[in-house]
Amino acid sequence: MLSADFANLGRDVEMINQSEADWFHLDVMDGVFVPNISFGFPVIKAIQKLATKPFDVHLMIVQPERYIDAFKAVGTDILSVHYEACTHLHRTIFAIKEAGMKAGVALNPHTPVHLLKPIIADIDLVCMMSVNPGFGGQKFIEHTYQKCAELKDMILKANANCLIEIDGGVNDLTAPLLLNAGANVLVAGNYVFGSADPTKTISLLKHLFSNTTKLS
Ligand code: ZN
Repeated sequence: MLSADFANLGRDVEMINQSEADWFHLDVMDGVFVPNISFGFPVIKAIQKLATKPFDVHLMIVQPERYIDAFKAVGTDILSVHYEACTHLHRTIFAIKEAGMKAGVALNPHTPVHLLKPIIADIDLVCMMSVNPGFGGQKFIEHTYQKCAELKDMILKANANCLIEIDGGVNDLTAPLLLNAGANVLVAGNYVFGSADPTKTISLLKHLFSNTTKLS
């Protein structure tokens, strides 16, 4: 939703409702963890009023544990916190689950995948940043394919039930390669909202998936 037109939010939410997308992906930025501020609870509540699909909330904020209940209250289904923002990650993951949400962990491009090994069986999703977080429309980092394959291998070896979500720079060129590397969920912002026909763009991306994978 970071790439939506906020002056026409209702129209863009309705487009997602009617499209083949599975989830709403909301990027919350605090101007501290990342060098940008996106939107907060008033905007999320406005989206919630109209949205008919699950909320996948990606917190790019420091001390995300302070807002777990608040994000549950605005209809969050999947809540992801950044590995780099959590001193007590295990505690935060379980607090998210206890609040009744699925728990995700997001990784910045420079953060190695192997750091997730001790908690991979406890989380529902890994949100792998494939651009530097903070702004929409950035260039895809090629190293992501290798990280994605490495993470897939770790998940299979641990027999974990964890989805791999790729966030940033997803388009018709990167998406097939990401799916080949083991991605389950693709976040597309600029590629969808910047296209001439967003509904059709979502449909084209969605058809790259098998029946068991998701697009948000
Ligand atoms: Zn995101």
